[in-house]
Amino acid sequence: MTLPHGAVETPVFMPVGTVASVKAVPQHLLEELNAQIILSNTYHLYLRPGHELIRRMGGLHRFMSWHRPVLTDSGGFQVFSLNELRKVTEEGVEFRSHLDGGLHFFSPEHSMDVQIGLGSDIVMAFDECTEYPAEYTRARKSLDLTLRWAERSKRHFDAHKHEVPWGAEDISPGPAPCDLRPSLFGIVQGGMYQDLRREAAERLVEMDFPGYAIGGLSVGEPRELTREIIAETLPLLPKDKPRYVMGVGYPDEIVEYAEMGVDMMDCVLPTRAARHGLLFTSEGRLNIKNRRFAEDQNPPDPECQCMVCGRYSRAYLRHLMASQEPLAAVLNTLHNLAFYLDTMRRLRERLETTSPSK
Ligand SMILES: [Zn+2]
Repeated sequence: MTLPHGAVETPVFMPVGTVASVKAVPQHLLEELNAQIILSNTYHLYLRPGHELIRRMGGLHRFMSWHRPVLTDSGGFQVFSLNELRKVTEEGVEFRSHLDGGLHFFSPEHSMDVQIGLGSDIVMAFDECTEYPAEYTRARKSLDLTLRWAERSKRHFDAHKHEVPWGAEDISPGPAPCDLRPSLFGIVQGGMYQDLRREAAERLVEMDFPGYAIGGLSVGEPRELTREIIAETLPLLPKDKPRYVMGVGYPDEIVEYAEMGVDMMDCVLPTRAARHGLLFTSEGRLNIKNRRFAEDQNPPDPECQCMVCGRYSRAYLRHLMASQEPLAAVLNTLHNLAFYLDTMRRLRERLETTSPSK
């Protein structure tokens, strides 16, 4: 993918930087880990520090000093997580801030304005994430709303996409000449119903987006069902455009989905688990808090080439967790992200050598 702030090799895993920060990891280390693109959350940044402030600071890239691509979600998923605090109408969603209880309103048009104001490279359409489980009639109604909102998102985005806070001087010179404008991706919903997923995919493809996401997964359904929905929906989306599965998954899942043809994934798992002392390694999951690591001189993952495994022992990481040192979160997160990003890098290399076109 060639984006305004640089090229991204796919399949790609995107670390989550909820409030313009991948928790515990400074931007220069994200670069060292070869993170190509990060995800930021529109809902959180809209509430604090506010998209207008970020726009005045020159956009998200300049504000956080991250000069590679950024994808923003639409705010929909977070707003819909506020079960008790929201009211959905045709026009949009009224919700109360989780910070101070203040009343706010998000519509497809407003979500586009916020994401454009943040200066995102990839903007996501405003959708309703259908809860799980959902009755057929409920999923049907929810999808119809998402499709109407997709049209409104696209219309407003096309009219305003030039209003990004960055200019030619902020754009990295890539291998191919690149449009200075962000891209808007459509999101396939439809709950766990294959006919609704098919209809969603067909309608969105008719609207002609430059990329497509499969949303509404990882919402509590069994993993087998997640896989099934991806397998059935993916072939309905154009192969020559990026296909993104939102909010997945464990290391073996992201490999499985990438092998099925998914180009982009994001998940809080490697960063969130790290802060709880859970490390993903070539030998499986490791709870570093475990007493059996107290005098273990080995690196967290003997197979891993990362800056943490090259330097620190399991015994030391366990001690940091036990002592509740902030460095524990930093080192654990660096390793987990390295593990995820490296898994995808190896996969890309393997796909490249086995690709029939090569
Ligand atoms: Zn490592």
